[in-house]
Amino acid sequence: MERVVIAVGGNALLRPGDKGTSEEQFRRARETAEYISWIFEDRQVALTHGNGPQVGAILLQNEHARDIVPPMPLDVCGAESQGMIGYMLEQSFNNVLKARGINRDIITLLTRVEVDENDPAFKNPTKPIGPFYTRYQAQELIREKGWRMVEDSGRGWRRVVPSPDPRRIVESGAILSLLEAGFIVIGVGGGGIPVIRKNGTLIGVEGVIDKDLGAATLAKDIDAIELIILTAVDMVYLNYGKENQKGIDSATLREMREYYRQGHFKPGSMGPKILAAMRFLENGGRKVLITSPEKLKESYEGKSGTWIYP
Ligand code: ADP
Ligand code: MG
Repeated sequence: MERVVIAVGGNALLRPGDKGTSEEQFRRARETAEYISWIFEDRQVALTHGNGPQVGAILLQNEHARDIVPPMPLDVCGAESQGMIGYMLEQSFNNVLKARGINRDIITLLTRVEVDENDPAFKNPTKPIGPFYTRYQAQELIREKGWRMVEDSGRGWRRVVPSPDPRRIVESGAILSLLEAGFIVIGVGGGGIPVIRKNGTLIGVEGVIDKDLGAATLAKDIDAIELIILTAVDMVYLNYGKENQKGIDSATLREMREYYRQGHFKPGSMGPKILAAMRFLENGGRKVLITSPEKLKESYEGKSGTWIYP
């Protein structure tokens, strides 16, 4: 069976305008499952997902209850988000698969990702996370906790954390065994929990791994042949959002490198997806598809999506 990694984006669980209730997230997860469940029938699939809004909510809860319950560090909050999102996806996919008569079991695996303790990202934190603070609160937090804080586009002060490069999925062997035993695996949630190795000991660090790069690292570590990135757009565009925007049906790694260099893909949204695609193909991956859950089927029929080849 072909082995594929599917990375689902934020809108698999939350859409613009959603409040983020559990009912909403279960409903979105079910919709996503209904669009893509057919692909599980005859493939080995590892499913990864983002966690931005959910881990933001967990941080906010920790912050507001800090006088009653000790707040947890970011790596622990990330682990919580993997469990919470994993449960919602697992239950929704499980029910859809059963309803469609697809006899596959699905399991969520808590996943850590090794990063380099000398990664330059640790000296230069870039990723804003969690709640907004006043200038005064920010000064307190800088003094008390040593957090790095920045003013986020006029909306208040926010903590920034490093976004280190994922090197190795700690649980890749376990994921592979589960896939070979016939399970669908949900893993590397939110890009994975970042850990560093010190004298043979793993230690969690406060950072956020990009989920698309995490997915590409998993795809390499388990020798997947295909990486599918599902997001809010049906395909990748040149000159996105401009009058002359043009969809890319298919492209080679070389062409993508050139488009990337020309600045067609925004950092923080499409940029990391294209980086993940290029990295996977450079490491032996055979194809990458970027599309929306709604257009997955049509993409396989050659009618939508962006396909990228080595
Ligand atoms: P996800 O939660 O799936 O990671 P992101 O918002 O991070 O979603 O990235 C997807 C978004 O990237 C699209 O919704 C689109 O607004 C934006 N985008 C930026 N550049 C491009 C491009 N060149 N082609 C298509 N979409 C792009
Ligand atoms: Mg994203």
